[in-house]
Amino acid sequence: RQPTRHAHVRSSLAPLLSSLSSPAGSLIMGSSVDIADVTASVTSVLAVPDDKPAFQPLDPEDVRAYLHKAVDFVSDYYANVESMPVLPDVKPGYLQGELMSSPPTYSTPFDVTMKELGASVVPGMTHWASPNFFAFFPATNSAAAIAGDLIASALNTVGFTWQAAPAATEMEVLALDWLAQLLRLPATFMNRTSTGSRGTGGGIILGTTSEAMLVTLVAARDAALRRSGSIGVSGLPRLAVYAADQTHSTFFKACRLAGFDPANIRSIPTTAENHYELDPAKLFESMQADVDAGLVPTYVCATVGTTSSNAVDPVGVVAEVAALFGAWVHVDAAYAGSACICPEFRHHLNGVERVDSISVSPHKWLLTCLDCTCLYVRDARRLSDSMETNPEYLKNDATDSGEVTDLKDMQVGVGRRFRGLKLWMVMRTYGTAKLQEHIRSDIAMAKMFEGLVRADHRFEIVVPRNFAMVCFRIKASGAMTEEHADEANRVLMKNLNKTGKAYIAHTVVGHRIVLRFAVGSSLQEERHVRSAWELIKSTTNKMMME
Ligand SMILES: *Cc1c(COP(=O)(O)O)cnc(C)c1O
Repeated sequence: RQPTRHAHVRSSLAPLLSSLSSPAGSLIMGSSVDIADVTASVTSVLAVPDDKPAFQPLDPEDVRAYLHKAVDFVSDYYANVESMPVLPDVKPGYLQGELMSSPPTYSTPFDVTMKELGASVVPGMTHWASPNFFAFFPATNSAAAIAGDLIASALNTVGFTWQAAPAATEMEVLALDWLAQLLRLPATFMNRTSTGSRGTGGGIILGTTSEAMLVTLVAARDAALRRSGSIGVSGLPRLAVYAADQTHSTFFKACRLAGFDPANIRSIPTTAENHYELDPAKLFESMQADVDAGLVPTYVCATVGTTSSNAVDPVGVVAEVAALFGAWVHVDAAYAGSACICPEFRHHLNGVERVDSISVSPHKWLLTCLDCTCLYVRDARRLSDSMETNPEYLKNDATDSGEVTDLKDMQVGVGRRFRGLKLWMVMRTYGTAKLQEHIRSDIAMAKMFEGLVRADHRFEIVVPRNFAMVCFRIKASGAMTEEHADEANRVLMKNLNKTGKAYIAHTVVGHRIVLRFAVGSSLQEERHVRSAWELIKSTTNKMMME
């Protein structure tokens, strides 16, 4: 009787569906069908007692139909996003007012759901995919990555052990080892040696850099406690950690989560003369002072490409200093790490062969959608010593053989997504040469922007540009003090972002407000960078006339 029931429901819905069907483009723009009316009529159709089809959320034909609509939506979105305001004009809580405030009891055609997405959600988006987005660091993406993520969602493996997801586990390991080769990381960070046997290094794809910091901090903490003969955690208050004052603030959060005393988190001051890099001499002084005071230097976080100004800490020398104290060194290369797949930028990672761990987020610059933070550790055992779990219900022969990597032992959670697929699909589909071309083209556009800024005497470049981000500001001149200039830069950013035609963000470097222009949104072309500069100039002109 089931097919008849389906047929019945389908035929009752047919007029409704055809009244709703519209090209995805108009879904985005919204159209005039009243959602409340539609919902009411659908509800009355579906509420027929005793004649309900079995609920099949993965009915293969529904999957095909829904996903085709979703794919059309995505494709149309990319075709149209350039003309949408980058920053939406919505107030906090706006969505509550647009959508039903309680979940519906009865089903709705998928078209209604998609229509609400287009009418209410899209207009409230800050469009990270817009080519006019220059804020923060870009969230880069590609067709291959989206396809990989879609398929990973469909396969929906929960890869805690190798046995629970052999292909997903091995794909992650393989993708990480491939990326390690692109970055020319030392073989000690790889899961597999060149002969195919298991190496001592290990990699894992996590969601965020914060998690990479957290798990390595925990491993370093436990190693330091063991080394200093602490019973349990009694020695914890004596452990100290170090990073430059430019280090991402999430480092302090990760330290607190890992149980370090906030009083023992050292923020080493940087200077403009030193381009805001971590000064190894100051690091040494700080670590030595702590040892003299009876503390245990435990962990140093070096950054390659700081968030504020893209400063690059001298990884090799930092590692040498840390080695004197037996401290763990982690390199946070969340954004700039991706650039190091190009031989001409690889020198920024020099010295990485001496560190304990490094994390790079391909979701920032390697065309792979969120979330994808690749963490490499020299000695995978040091992570699993702290994070291994071995409950009876997860025991299996593969784990017992010692031949496999169980990724649950290198992360906070147990379950995990099939994140390796999208990263592999990106590298497999585009190839190294294209990925390098992508990095070079972003950097060339940033260089061009830098040139345009330099040619305008009203502006200054605040720090030397290392990658695809330019730090600039309206400079103080004549009667204008630095404080006035700060205010002018704030107003410029505000007025610029209000236009909806560009979105840039700011930071504070050396106590001054600085505008950050980050090139690299995946749809961006030179013309977008040029028009953003024209807009910056005209907005500045208007301000100066007022
Ligand atoms: C983006 C960024 C972070 C924060 O990363 P999450 O993945 O959001 O935790 C940390 N460090 C650097 C250098 C970054 O660019």
